[in-house]
Amino acid sequence: MLPDIERLLELQIADQEIRLLHDEIAALPKRVAVIEQKLAGTKTQLEKARAAAKADEANRKKFEAAILDLQGKISKYRDQSLDVKTNEQYRALLSEIQFAEQEIRINEDRILEVMVNAEGREKQVKAAEAELKAETAEIEEEKEDARRVTAEDREKLGGWNVKRDSLRREISEDVLRRYDRVLKFRGSGLAEVRDQKCMGCQVMLRPQIYNEVRGEQLIYCDSCQRILYFDPANEPKPQPVAEPVQVKRRPRPKPDAAQAWFYRPDYGEFGEVLLVFTNGEGTASRCVYDMHSGRQVGDVLNREGNYRQAFPEDLTDTAIRLNGYWEEKEMVEWAAEIPSNTLDVLHLDLRAAQRERKRSHKERSSAPAEHSAANG
Ligand SMILES: [Zn+2]
Repeated sequence: MLPDIERLLELQIADQEIRLLHDEIAALPKRVAVIEQKLAGTKTQLEKARAAAKADEANRKKFEAAILDLQGKISKYRDQSLDVKTNEQYRALLSEIQFAEQEIRINEDRILEVMVNAEGREKQVKAAEAELKAETAEIEEEKEDARRVTAEDREKLGGWNVKRDSLRREISEDVLRRYDRVLKFRGSGLAEVRDQKCMGCQVMLRPQIYNEVRGEQLIYCDSCQRILYFDPANEPKPQPVAEPVQVKRRPRPKPDAAQAWFYRPDYGEFGEVLLVFTNGEGTASRCVYDMHSGRQVGDVLNREGNYRQAFPEDLTDTAIRLNGYWEEKEMVEWAAEIPSNTLDVLHLDLRAAQRERKRSHKERSSAPAEHSAANG
């Protein structure tokens, strides 16, 4: 690795640490501010609860004063009743007394209500006071914590800054300029190259650029401008060669089948064809299809005997027997064209048969075979 790259990698770590420390130092007062806000909310709640208790107390005093006032009125009315001359005057005084007594009862109810409320109010005040106390303690702790962590961070920051400055002195100026500029815009100035890709922007490198990076040249990514480096430790390991897949043995067509499919690569004017022979009672029929389109070519031919006896001229050395059997009814439905999925099945079997032939030829040419494979 180039010395400048090695120093840049260290510089990158220093820059990251410095950024993290700055972030942490900036975050601490924010955390304290959040708790302070909560504290202010609790203080407001406490003030409200205290004000409500005070208002209740004032009301209670007001109601008590009203009762005293009404009691005074009643005794005055009683005194006056001694001097009345008429029944009317007497009834009027009595009604005044009754009204005052009723007012006294209303005020007594109000006082009772205030007293019942007071218990709830007292609880509210006590709860708010306890919360305020806890939060005050918490904020003191948090502030102390923040002070301590900030001091530690500043010390670490000092160390990293010294390291950063000494690293920068050892890196060439134009490389540093490039690093600083890309760092400012992209958050990092360096990018590793892996699998021919810039890990900074995930863009594939041109083969020439990739070779230059691997060849220890100072190269910049064309797309993100980061300084590229290659770490041989992260070089992709060659994949172990996969075991050859075991080819499933192709089933061998039955020699005495009632229906027999063949492939012929050289069927006169038709070229590559598929032939199907069907053995009936004492007769055999032959139908020929174009190998690629699946379309029937020529007419269906019937002859006496089984197909081997009836059509010996078709069963040349180049004919390859294929697997396949379709019901007569189904084949009638095809009309004059093999359906494409059926054609695919036949093509697949043909390829398997051809591979098999090639293999057995090879075996035969390398070692004398004990007996040649019977061709159905
Ligand atoms: Zn890039």
